[in-house]
Amino acid sequence: MPRLPERHYIHSMTAVSRPEGAAGLSADPRLLGRAVKRIAFDAPTIQRRVRELGAEITAAYPDGDLLVLGLLKGSFVFLADLVREIGRPLHVDFLVASSYGDATESSGLVRMVYDPATTLEGKHILLVEDIVDSGRTLNKLVDLLKARAPRSLEICAMLHKNVAAGLRHQPRFVGFDAPNEFLVGYGLDHAENFRHLPYVASLKQPDTPSVAPSRR
Ligand code: 5GP
Ligand code: MG
Repeated sequence: MPRLPERHYIHSMTAVSRPEGAAGLSADPRLLGRAVKRIAFDAPTIQRRVRELGAEITAAYPDGDLLVLGLLKGSFVFLADLVREIGRPLHVDFLVASSYGDATESSGLVRMVYDPATTLEGKHILLVEDIVDSGRTLNKLVDLLKARAPRSLEICAMLHKNVAAGLRHQPRFVGFDAPNEFLVGYGLDHAENFRHLPYVASLKQPDTPSVAPSRR
């Protein structure tokens, strides 16, 4: 396997927290009346970073067949932008994973609901994830994919919360270090809403009381 350079990303917490932008966005009809707590990453910031990632990925794969494998649904927006910034031949496929077992606290059991039709053997596989949180999904998927004898297997995550304790497979390419809050937009959903936002935001809780509730 060719020696590949170290993982690249910028620590871009500076892009986080723009209350002035958030105020202007409370009227965004895509938000279903929900108010933005803050914009974590705005559209131009994401665009710039995706362009950089595309260049890094292009440089990291000087030869061989590259298969970009998007983990649905969350990665679809990021993947669509990313592949258009990769300046070398590649194929695209998707996979769908599902956790099962205890529905609230994932038991770590993950199965493939849609399995890529493409052969992985002998190819460079770049698994594209929307966000790495506990890392459970990645741990399991990487094991499943490695069993198919790819030439190499790397992960590209748009966002990384850096909270996963037992993450066995670190993403080699990361868009941004993300704040440890629930984020929506740019592919990320809440109850299937907000995936089409061109920015990444955290929303105010709809039922947060504005005054502290009475103790009685
Ligand atoms: P993990 O297995 O790393 O805990 O979870 C990864 C998956 O959980 C992501 O692919 C994503 O679907 C979901 N997830 C984790 N954090 C967030 C978040 O902040 N917002 C949204 N919308 N989904 C998240
Ligand atoms: Mg997901």
